[in-house]
Amino acid sequence: MKQYHNYINGDWIEAIDSQANINPSDLGDTLGHYARADQKQTQEAIDCAHHAFQSWSMSSIQTRFNCLDMIGSEILARKEELGSLLAREEGKPIAEATGEVIRAGQIFKFYAGEALRLQGEHLPSVRPNISVEVNRSPLGVVGIITPWNFPIAIPAWKIAPALAYGNTVVFKPAELTPGSAWALAEIISRSGLPEGVFNLVMGAGTTVGQTFINSPKVAGITFTGSQSTGGRVAQACVSRGAKFQLEMGGKNPLVVLKDSNLTTAVEYALNGAYFSTGQRCTASSRLIIEDAIHDQFVDALTEKLTALKVGNALDKTTQLGPVASQSQLDQNMKYIAIGQDEGATEHVRGGCLDLATPGHYMSPSLFIETDNKARINQEEIFGPIATTIRVADLEEAIATANDTPFGLSAGICTASLSSATKFKTECEAGMVMINLPTAGVDYHVPFGGTKQSSYGSREQGRYAAEFYTSVKTAYIGT
Ligand code: ADP
Repeated sequence: MKQYHNYINGDWIEAIDSQANINPSDLGDTLGHYARADQKQTQEAIDCAHHAFQSWSMSSIQTRFNCLDMIGSEILARKEELGSLLAREEGKPIAEATGEVIRAGQIFKFYAGEALRLQGEHLPSVRPNISVEVNRSPLGVVGIITPWNFPIAIPAWKIAPALAYGNTVVFKPAELTPGSAWALAEIISRSGLPEGVFNLVMGAGTTVGQTFINSPKVAGITFTGSQSTGGRVAQACVSRGAKFQLEMGGKNPLVVLKDSNLTTAVEYALNGAYFSTGQRCTASSRLIIEDAIHDQFVDALTEKLTALKVGNALDKTTQLGPVASQSQLDQNMKYIAIGQDEGATEHVRGGCLDLATPGHYMSPSLFIETDNKARINQEEIFGPIATTIRVADLEEAIATANDTPFGLSAGICTASLSSATKFKTECEAGMVMINLPTAGVDYHVPFGGTKQSSYGSREQGRYAAEFYTSVKTAYIGT
């Protein structure tokens, strides 16, 4: 079985330990053994990135463009192969997995261009014979910590801007999905970046991630994952004055008003709540339905849900892949039991499935007529489980949509411009979707949320410069 090493200072380095990467669609299929770094190896990677920063921060923007553009081109050229690797290790159906790979390639291409477009300002001073410049400088070493649900796109949208703006990188992917991260690192290793500029350190969050967040040589941490780990990252960074950015999930509402097109509203609910097995932080886990069409909506969604094909991610006819891990499957089953105990009606019953290959399969679940205060409506589940909440009108829909600690994405289906405008203005979310699913975003505009979903400046698009640079004001006398 192939061993996959860490990439540190331009070399592939063995770690003291390794871990099997197992296909959630077929538990008998192991993709390989991936390195697990200890604290010492992690610190070596940080030291190398720290050393490489001095020259990389001064590198020409043409060099940065060339490296990032080459990485993007190779990802796009190998989309089928990388897509099947991603599907095999994470469990999302092959078409979605290939789409994610394409997205990663596009992101590298976008930031190749952004390297050329970094802007400052030149202003007159309020004092005579002085001018003022406002320029952006890279931070230093950026520690990148990513989750398993988008194992190539999230690393891409953190690594590409970090490098484009002149930072060096230590990157720790999720333990569950090191394969896509390793393949990306292998492409990056041949892109012409000087040694030490990019480093891959696979291993445990509590070892590798914790070393990143505590190290005085890491100037900034960009993190996507759970709220509890996000809190730990925040505490460590605040205590040593490091910059940090957190993305921590959602409990996203999709409001369906009685004037909406029911067929498309049901399609958007199905897509937003269940595709990617519900394992998206932008998933529509709360379906807030106006009273007059609630029952019709439930009937139509139930018909679609019961026809969904759950199966192996590599089977082209699969619509719902397996859950990514046993612990996530256990969490999903726990929340179904919580919903039942809370008295909610599980209209479409979700449960574990035995299919041709042994995997973490489950059928989708739909609770109806739920109370928004219930735990299944307040806590992020991260599985193919959604609820309906019946509301009287738009006012109640907006109040319900906002009654959550999260604020990542919020959607509405309506034919009314004034209802859409009111929702767009009043919903407490970083991203609003009008007549669209809550999940599914572009890469050239900001991504992020309000309240407990996110902390710090936005990711993606040119707004990423806010995190990956700091502003320097220069006064020039004559
Ligand atoms: P999830 O429940 O989705 O796995 P986590 O927050 O546990 O979410 O994981 C997200 C990322 O954070 C992973 O790469 C994980 O290894 C990392 N991580 C976990 N614990 C820590 C920690 N104490 N410090 C830094 N990173 C961590």
